Amino acid sequence: DISLSPRVNSVKPSKTVAISDQAAALALAGVPIIRLAAGEPDFDTPAVIAEAGINAIREGYTRYTPNAGTMELRKAICHKLKEENGITYTPDQIIVSNGAKQSLVQAVLAVCSPGDEVIIPAPFWVSYPEMARLADATPLILPTPISNNFLLDPKLLESKITERSRLLILCSPSNPTGSVYPKELLQEIAQIVSKHPRLLVLSDEIYEHIIYAPATHTSFASLPGMWDRTLTVNGFSKAFAMTGWRLGYIAGPKHFVTACGKLQSQFTSGASSIAQKAGVAALGLGYAGGEAVSTMVKAFRERRDFLVKSFREIDGIKISEPQGAFYLFIDVSSYYGREAEGFGKIDDSESLCRYLLDKAQVALVPGSAFGDDSCIRISYAESLPVLQAAVERMKKALISLN
Ligand code: PLP
Repeated sequence: DISLSPRVNSVKPSKTVAISDQAAALALAGVPIIRLAAGEPDFDTPAVIAEAGINAIREGYTRYTPNAGTMELRKAICHKLKEENGITYTPDQIIVSNGAKQSLVQAVLAVCSPGDEVIIPAPFWVSYPEMARLADATPLILPTPISNNFLLDPKLLESKITERSRLLILCSPSNPTGSVYPKELLQEIAQIVSKHPRLLVLSDEIYEHIIYAPATHTSFASLPGMWDRTLTVNGFSKAFAMTGWRLGYIAGPKHFVTACGKLQSQFTSGASSIAQKAGVAALGLGYAGGEAVSTMVKAFRERRDFLVKSFREIDGIKISEPQGAFYLFIDVSSYYGREAEGFGKIDDSESLCRYLLDKAQVALVPGSAFGDDSCIRISYAESLPVLQAAVERMKKALISLN
């Protein structure tokens, strides 16, 4: 009997991971692919952080840690959340996990009952709806248009809340759009949340440091009345270029995070002891990661500026200038219905991405993966010269469409 559980059958594999893997395989086979599909900084982990990990190994700091994470790291996280985000937590309100992804899925599993609704603004990060399905909950997708900079309309939210609404997932700065929720908009959302006592907010703040002034980051839990309604998730992968270390965390009311910890104690136990030492060093870099992080943010900003300018010059592409993260989510739907010689018709974001991989040898992710088929996602976690080459190749491929 080779049948699988209905739980697995209800979940789609991650498209971003699949496309990154496909592009990596092509590159390995010698095809000169420009890979702009991955959600991973192109920088190395800052040396002081890496050294802390190396020292941890040298000093034999290689055993199991407490399930919730080391006291040293949880205290450092509490300090960071207080100083940078204006939210007060004690170490028993923090669970450190193997990446923010684990923190998120545990939170969804911990609070959702079968039949509950998880409200997810689209474009969304690929994993949110699947996490809801894993919990036997129903994802309720709320579209946000590019003309509104992909921000959720509070009126739409209010009209969709029912007694089954359990979780609203917010991601700011956003993957895939780079949109940043202004404080005033979050306040409006908080007003609505406060009227629905069963609704919690899962606030994914993993891109908080990758933000371009004058945009600023607001933690949802810092808004009046929202501390006990919010589960805040953050991590080390993006800001500190630590994707491979696998380290993230959740902060929230003890009742909920203890439940997350219970799941974790049966899934994986505590995160890597070595990564946790490195995490302490990362938080020791100072406010918002100090110079090590601001140097990377500066580079991301230059690339964003270059891409926004370049794509604005191409007819038929619509752009909302991203205010954070390292993605550009452009509307390419005016190309749908066109044909390419030797390729056939392009009728959606997936066929356009296949065409661009084939013709321009640039790997991108179709917007359909993020719940918006009008768009494609370009990750600019690549050097400027590579991005310049990618734009040239894409321009040529798009212009040659009939
Ligand atoms: N949340 C968002 C929006 C992301 O883009 C990612 C990574 O791609 C994650 C969470 C997970 O990060 P990690 O598990 O590496 O901490």
